[in-house]
Amino acid sequence: MEFTKESPILNTICDPYGRRLNNIRLSITQRCALNCFFCHREGEFSPSQEMSVEEIVRIARIACEQGMRKVKITGGEPLLRSDVVQIVAKIVPYAREVSMTTNGIHLAEYAEDLHNAGLKRVNISLHSITPQIYQKISGCNSLSNVKDGIEAAIKHHLEPVKINMVVLNGLNVDEIHKMIEFSRECGFILQLIEFQPIQEVSKQYWNQYYYDLSEVEKWLEENAVKIHKRSMHSRKQYHLEQNGKLAIVEVVKPIHNSVFCQNCTRIRVTSDGKLKPCLLKNDNLVDLLPIIRAGEDDEALREAFKLAISLRAPYWKE
Ligand code: SAM
Repeated sequence: MEFTKESPILNTICDPYGRRLNNIRLSITQRCALNCFFCHREGEFSPSQEMSVEEIVRIARIACEQGMRKVKITGGEPLLRSDVVQIVAKIVPYAREVSMTTNGIHLAEYAEDLHNAGLKRVNISLHSITPQIYQKISGCNSLSNVKDGIEAAIKHHLEPVKINMVVLNGLNVDEIHKMIEFSRECGFILQLIEFQPIQEVSKQYWNQYYYDLSEVEKWLEENAVKIHKRSMHSRKQYHLEQNGKLAIVEVVKPIHNSVFCQNCTRIRVTSDGKLKPCLLKNDNLVDLLPIIRAGEDDEALREAFKLAISLRAPYWKE
């Protein structure tokens, strides 16, 4: 069944904690040219294979039919797949919104085609605008490509453009104000993200680089002219005004945050086709590819979704 953009949500599924699933984060590759030392790789550490376009689109369609009609394409770096525009174009008819998170390096080449394929908006990862620090964090010297990518995203209306900045103690905390000014100038939304500890990453780096965003959030609260609370994760967006120009800063603060988990409405799919109910858990994955590759019907996939959703539980509890 193909939905039009206006179709009402026919089915929505709640997990055992009453959280209504309305969005899916779909990884399409684990390949990435960057080597950010803190990267959680969407909680995926030993992917076995990539899915075909048809497999990805079928999973997205089943998700959309069950109410998860906001689809975020991620990776790895999604723009490393040469069929990425085709993937977007084929998911668009089923979804209310298709968006993407990208490191931005190849975005200038793809922005127009992605827009034409129906991509609504992008999140671009940019953890520093100081070349040496950007290189230290990502292992690459590609800051100027990312800036070109931001410009192209704005030019081709992949809006609102959001910039993801993972805040890292001793590395980029001092750049927060510079990034707020940059966002005001360019007209994107700045997302300040707390470093989440995932598997190996947590052991090696978390103690050294984790930065609690509480103080930053307090400052934002005191200086905002308006605060908007989003339903997803109950995240707050702070509107800061200077000389009549607005900067919008969103804070993503999941650590020890039960409210964040209570308001989580998302499920993930790994690049090798496993439903992943929570970024931070690996003991409750549901493998879709054996079902698809055995030629089973959509009902079998719907059952697999129901199982994964029944396994959802908040990671951070009160
Ligand atoms: N390559 C794409 C990109 O750079 O946006 C998509 C994948 S990346 C894993 C998705 C987002 O997760 C990025 O914004 C990244 O900064 C963020 N991220 C990665 N590791 C993280 C961590 N340990 N804690 C918080 N956010 C993290």
